[in-house]
Amino acid sequence: MRIDLHTHSTASDGTDSPAELIRAAAAAGLDVVAITDHDTTGGWDEALAARPDGLTVVPGVEFSCVHHDADGRRVSLHLLAYLADPDNEALQAEWTRLRAGRVTRGKLMVENLVADGYPISWEQVSALAADGSVGRPHIGRALVDSGVVPDVSAAFGDLLSSRRPYYVRKPDTDVFEAIALVRGAGGLPVFAHPLARRRGPVVSDETIAAMAAAGLVGLEVQHPDHDDADRAHAAELTRDLGLLGTGSSDYHGTNKPTPIGVCLTDPDVYEQLVALPTARTPVGP
Ligand code: AMP
Ligand code: FE
Ligand code: FE
Ligand code: ZN
Repeated sequence: MRIDLHTHSTASDGTDSPAELIRAAAAAGLDVVAITDHDTTGGWDEALAARPDGLTVVPGVEFSCVHHDADGRRVSLHLLAYLADPDNEALQAEWTRLRAGRVTRGKLMVENLVADGYPISWEQVSALAADGSVGRPHIGRALVDSGVVPDVSAAFGDLLSSRRPYYVRKPDTDVFEAIALVRGAGGLPVFAHPLARRRGPVVSDETIAAMAAAGLVGLEVQHPDHDDADRAHAAELTRDLGLLGTGSSDYHGTNKPTPIGVCLTDPDVYEQLVALPTARTPVGP
């Protein structure tokens, strides 16, 4: 069984449409794929409609969150929410607020870049995002199309980095509030790439323990942004805290070099995850 529990489509910052994402999952020989766009369930219907007979699709969302730790440090973090009720009003209201915040923030980042002479526009970025959740990868794609950088990763390495003055924060959700919202909507919260230090500061083990006590069900252990030591430490945390340890590619189409299915979830872990009570069930054969 090949199980990939974290992928993106054009409903957020991936480059495959939801139907193309499902075809890519089948072509990669996956048995189970989760569609987890940022702050939206907008890709679910198209993905489910495109599902071939042999593939199971797990509807999910990657929820943009923030935590302020004991020394006042602000840490941005991502929570995967699987199998929540897509009609839950509190959850959808929060995701609607986050998507609106992404637009305001995207416009500000484009203004900052334009003020320094970079030849892009909000119209261009907004067209690239189409109806999906807009993010830095869309600004990166505009910078590629305008000949400023060779690829989106080069844009992230420099102009789009949070260390550069063009960067603007998104109005993300407090992670403990997010865990409560997801659980309240019958969903399963799993902490995405918890130790991905390359992206910025990460939360402490104590915060992960507090998240577990608040209703977190798992940690992403196998992830392209985790090195061997990160994977070993995340696996140890799952044992200490009674959490499930998942594995996923975080596929973004051509916006990132990572192929779909490059990291996988153990079938036993998947069975334990989907045996938990949820508002929705995976859709499969
Ligand atoms: P944002 O959420 O708008 O701040 O942008 C962060 C998103 O960009 C995350 O979903 C990342 O997966 C994605 N991302 C991070 N680093 C890169 C990279 N080097 N190339 C492409 N996308 C990236
Ligand atoms: Fe992304
Ligand atoms: Fe993420
Ligand atoms: Zn992701």
